[in-house]
Amino acid sequence: MHKTFDFYAGTYVPGADPLFDDTPAPQAAAAPRVTCLVCGLALEPDAERPRLCHVCGGDLPAARAFVVNKVLWAEISVERTHDAWTAALDAADTDLQARWRAFYEAQAYDPEKAARAIAMARSGRADPFLDLLRLFLAYQDAGEQLAQVNTWVDRCAEVLG
Ligand SMILES: [Zn+2]
Repeated sequence: MHKTFDFYAGTYVPGADPLFDDTPAPQAAAAPRVTCLVCGLALEPDAERPRLCHVCGGDLPAARAFVVNKVLWAEISVERTHDAWTAALDAADTDLQARWRAFYEAQAYDPEKAARAIAMARSGRADPFLDLLRLFLAYQDAGEQLAQVNTWVDRCAEVLG
């Protein structure tokens, strides 16, 4: 039961406050939405391609270009991180190169030691070897990102042709 404070009477009185209508607003029917395979936005689905939003489904050339651009950026990222890592390795002094070889061998023969080095590198600890390792890890992460993008591209190709 609603009560309203009556400022003249100095107390609450029964009845709804005419200044504050708290009846719920009528709900508009929610439009169906899809998380678009291409752009990733939750929008109204395309009528012919239900895995796409109406924007991507309505402009397939633009949707294909979006996919191609995403692949190109992932490939550029792999190239850049590879070049940064190899340049740093080439510029490394003999001590740093020896530490790198030890890490490289540990990956095959002592994976726990390699994992500890990776964890230290990812923690951000300052060290010339860990700086080099971070560049290598960035290259590896870019490669994994590219692999994920390529998997996504295959799924997009099923819809975009
Ligand atoms: Zn879309």
